[in-house]
Parts: sequence; structure tokens; C-alpha cells
Amino acid sequence: MKLILFGPPGSGKGTQASLLAKKNNIPHLSTGDILRFKLQKDDNFAKELSQIISGGNLVPDSIINPIVADKLLSNDCKNGFILDGYPRNKFQSNFLIDFLEKNNLEIDLIIDFIADTTTVKKRIIERSKIENRSDDNIEVIKTRLDKYFTETQPLASIFKEKFKDKFFEINATQEIAKIQSDIENRLKNA
Ligand code: ADP
Repeated sequence: MKLILFGPPGSGKGTQASLLAKKNNIPHLSTGDILRFKLQKDDNFAKELSQIISGGNLVPDSIINPIVADKLLSNDCKNGFILDGYPRNKFQSNFLIDFLEKNNLEIDLIIDFIADTTTVKKRIIERSKIENRSDDNIEVIKTRLDKYFTETQPLASIFKEKFKDKFFEINATQEIAKIQSDIENRLKNA
């Protein structure tokens, strides 16, 4: 099963991706997690990444595109994947569409998590009390949401047009269990 998740920071993509990954035994490819893992190294690349991420800005496409391409071609993904946090801008989306076509990878479902700004801000603030992410503070949240609404959200209409009935919008302000069952029901007909 090959899935792509869209939605603003704090909309619950990561939560649902983990649940789906476990249930279907496929990897959860979160570009945010992959990049945060790279911060653990003590080198110049990690320092550069850390500055970009803690400012809420997007890591250059020249860095993220090959990372995603490598992962998608790896053995781990031979039975499918859940792509979370990618694509995030027009260049990434063109790259991905082209990549999927060239490699004959057919997406089963694109799930767009719809949530209003007030809800996602509240959730991120709550999360910041539990997790220690350098980008979960009010100022940076604003930048991340701005980036999402200007660069990422417009991609949804491109994907909707291209993937038609494989594009599924979920009300992400609902409870976790309800979102999960809505997605599962939709997947039965994917
Ligand atoms: P969120 O969706 O909550 O903002 P993520 O964990 O998906 O968090 O991403 C955290 C940060 O990692 C982003 O703000 C950005 O700096 C970087 N990042 C993640 N995915 C991408 C991507 N596809 N392109 C560029 N930067 C990315």
C-alpha cells in the first residue's frame, strides 16, 4: 500500500501514519523525522540543518529530494510506504510525480488532513510540553504554518486533479480513533 499524507503541522499526520504503518506493516517515511535524526551527528551538515529546521524553514530541495528518492527505492519500501511531510513545495511535487512515474510506483491513496489554524496551533503547543522540538514555539509555529499555507497547501489541488478519486480529504479535527476508522473505511475501497 502506497500512501501520501498532506496536512498542516499539528494536523495529526504523524499519529495516523504510525497507526497505519503498524497495522499494515509498511514504513512510515516522515521527512521531519528523517531530518531530525540527521541532527544527532556533530558535523557541519547537522549544524546547517539544525538552523534551518529550528527557524521553521524548508530544507533545500537538493537535500531532501535525493533522501526521499533513496528511501522509496530501498528494500524497506518494496511492499509500500506512508509518505508524511513530502512534497512540501512545487519543485518537490514535480520531482515526486516524475519519480513515481519513472519507477512505476502507483499511489493507492492521498489523504489530506483538513484542520483549522486554531486547532493545529493548540495541538502543537500541547505537544511542545511533551516533546522537546526546537521548532515548537509560537514564533516558529507561525512561520511553519505560513509556509504550509503558501507553499504546500496549493499542491493539494494539483494532486486532487491528478489523482482524482484517490484523493481523500479527512476532517482532522475529529478524535484520533474516529479519524483512524474513517481512513480505514476509505482504504477498504482504495
Ligand atoms: P511539521 O509538519 O509538524 O512542521 P515535520 O516533522 O514534518 O513537522 O518537519 C519539521 C521540519 O523539517 C520542517 O519545518 C522543515 O524544516 C523540515 N522538513 C520536513 N520535511 C521537509 C521537506 N519535504 N522539505 C523541506 N524541509 C522539510
